[in-house]
Amino acid sequence: MITSKTKVVGLLGHPVGHSQSPIMHNTAFRENNVNYVYVAFDVAPEKLPEAVAGIRSLGLRGVNVTIPHKVAIIPLLDEIDPLAKRIGAVNTVVNDNGRLIGYNTDGTGYVRSLVNETKIELADQVVTMLGAGGAARAVACTLAEEGVKEIRIVNRSREKAQRLAEHLNGLVPTRAIDPADAHLAVSDATLLINTTSIGMYPQVDEMPIAAELLHPRLVVSDLIYNPLETKLLQAAKKIGAKTHSGVGMFVNQGALAYEIWLEADAPVELMRETVLKQLQQGGN
Ligand code: NAP
Repeated sequence: MITSKTKVVGLLGHPVGHSQSPIMHNTAFRENNVNYVYVAFDVAPEKLPEAVAGIRSLGLRGVNVTIPHKVAIIPLLDEIDPLAKRIGAVNTVVNDNGRLIGYNTDGTGYVRSLVNETKIELADQVVTMLGAGGAARAVACTLAEEGVKEIRIVNRSREKAQRLAEHLNGLVPTRAIDPADAHLAVSDATLLINTTSIGMYPQVDEMPIAAELLHPRLVVSDLIYNPLETKLLQAAKKIGAKTHSGVGMFVNQGALAYEIWLEADAPVELMRETVLKQLQQGGN
């Protein structure tokens, strides 16, 4: 029940109509008996400064931030957590008595789900990442900080892969590899991560890499969670490789935001069940 004491958190994005975050968080709040509510705010880019001022003036406890505001919000905040600074994007803001602090839980959510679900040792991983966009940046920076052995980045726009590789090189040996040489990047890799949008609903028949390049020594991870099992993951499963879907990243980035706002453990399994139920019912 919403009362005069209810604390408000929400999502700033544009558009926000398909987001699973409100139902995931509101179910968690209700089942945990906490007096919070999560609302999706559709904020046009030119209105972002006013929306951020609104967090302060209305006393929201915090927000998630999604496309297209993850980078643009940085100069509007009072403090940026070091990992979010390295990633160069914020997806979670907490309002600490009027002081707005920005975090990025995407990469940490990804790594937490990867390790929990596949039980791999990060220090042993030779990682090949397909894509070099915003999500790739969050995942690669976090994997680099967690001490993987090596990262290779294969991306359609070579300069973008090169820039990300240079950014990571102080932390972990990283190279940009041309898509034409993808076979060289994958043959001795242990972890293949698709961070491109290839294979996402409604283009569910597309693959970001030729199936012939996959091998059973790989863990194949896809950031896409709609569909839950992409064509890439189906092909990987077929040849006996271990697979990891993007739903865990989504749930855990949300759980970490919950923990930042409430300073309490999040009901991660309930959040996962809620999102899975929505996706299985055709929500996208
Ligand atoms: P983004 O910044 O727009 O990056 C998209 C990436 O995909 C770029 O590397 C782009 O290559 C590549 N790409 C797109 N279409 C391509 C095509 N036809 N051929 C070759 N490369 C192509 O997007 P993002 O925010 O990083 O999101 C990427 C994916 O991750 C999306 O599917 C998104 O749903 C998913 N994601 C999942 C979660 C989660 O919680 N599970 C969180 C965030 C994102 P260029 O650089 O050459 O354009």
